[in-house]
Amino acid sequence: MKSVLVFVEHEDGAIRRIGLEMCTRGADIAKELGVPSAAVVLGKGASKAAEPLKSTPIDAIWVSEDNLVDAHLNDPAVDAVEALLKQLGPSVALFPLTNLGKDIAARIGVRLSAGVITDVTDIAVKDGVISAQSPKFGGSVIATKAFKNSDYGVLTCRANSFIARQEPGKGEIKQLQSPAGKSYAVTVEEKVSQEAGKLGVEEAGIVVSGGRGLGGPEHFDIIEALAEALGGAVGASRAAVDAGWIPHSHQVGQTGKTVSPQLYIAVGISGAIQHKVGMRSAGTIVAINKDPNAPIFEFSDLGVVGDLFQIVPELTTLVKERRANA
Ligand SMILES: Cc1cc2nc3c(=O)[nH]c(=O)nc-3n(C[C@H](O)[C@H](O)[C@H](O)COP(=O)(O)OP(=O)(O)OC[C@H]3O[C@@H](n4cnc5c(N)ncnc54)[C@H](O)[C@@H]3O)c2cc1C
Repeated sequence: MKSVLVFVEHEDGAIRRIGLEMCTRGADIAKELGVPSAAVVLGKGASKAAEPLKSTPIDAIWVSEDNLVDAHLNDPAVDAVEALLKQLGPSVALFPLTNLGKDIAARIGVRLSAGVITDVTDIAVKDGVISAQSPKFGGSVIATKAFKNSDYGVLTCRANSFIARQEPGKGEIKQLQSPAGKSYAVTVEEKVSQEAGKLGVEEAGIVVSGGRGLGGPEHFDIIEALAEALGGAVGASRAAVDAGWIPHSHQVGQTGKTVSPQLYIAVGISGAIQHKVGMRSAGTIVAINKDPNAPIFEFSDLGVVGDLFQIVPELTTLVKERRANA
């Protein structure tokens, strides 16, 4: 491999935390391989999105603000990334495990006859060979795979799998020219942002999650109130999602999101292993559960045994009071 390239997704210049995580891990892999590392950011706002990447150990940041390379169009992005990878030579490319990341990664894999490893939670380098771990079969199997005889390797990475480190690399900004002679049949007509201002569970520094103990969808409002008071996001167990109380985008765990906030509050959640794997790396874990023998208490930093319907509203009031007096 001659380089490591990280595809960074953004919305009008605002990047997702996974971009910082992949740039840190990508740069570390490059160092272990003894090759340069680079990030690529495409579309309107790319220059703004490149700024925070300078505080990661990445060597170079390729930027294109070309109108054609809209952040929400796949074809131009695939062409631009393919051209860059051909220019860099045999490389490993990291993409976020997002809808856009998955689309581009798959097509780059085909175009460059690359090995593709999906749903990656860890990457290692041994004797110059890259291997990656990914959970399979609903997480009951962890597969380790390595690239074999391919010039290019493509990885799609789960959010919160790597730790983002603030360590400025060379951070050299380079302008990326779009491949000449291309025309595209699709254009973005309109963008509508949903839930403006609300953080997703993967991005939030504080997550308050509700489980089956809530007893019904109408009780998620007490979770939302606490999350809002703390400036955090709302998560959920699969039991709550399967019951239709809250959309799957909030689910934390093996078949949901992996989160790594500073504070995780689990409310009415028993702490099944499939939930634990999605939140165990949180800085501080607080559990509120009426059952003193609930497994969640085995891996919580702070456990509150009691009725959530009494404790959570009181906690929300206290948080609001503290904030008002701060
Ligand atoms: C292949 C596979 C993948 C899975 N993926 C996931 C996943 O991604 N995420 C996930 O979460 N689960 C997942 N699960 C499901 C998981 O095994 C559990 O079934 C699920 O996490 C249980 O959700 P829960 O804790 O909300 O419900 P329960 O286990 O029913 O726990 C409810 C808890 O609420 C407490 N409680 C009840 N009333 C109150 C009250 N008034 N006050 C305080 N506490 C109260 C109870 O004591 C209990 O501990 C998966 C399972 C499988 C087989």
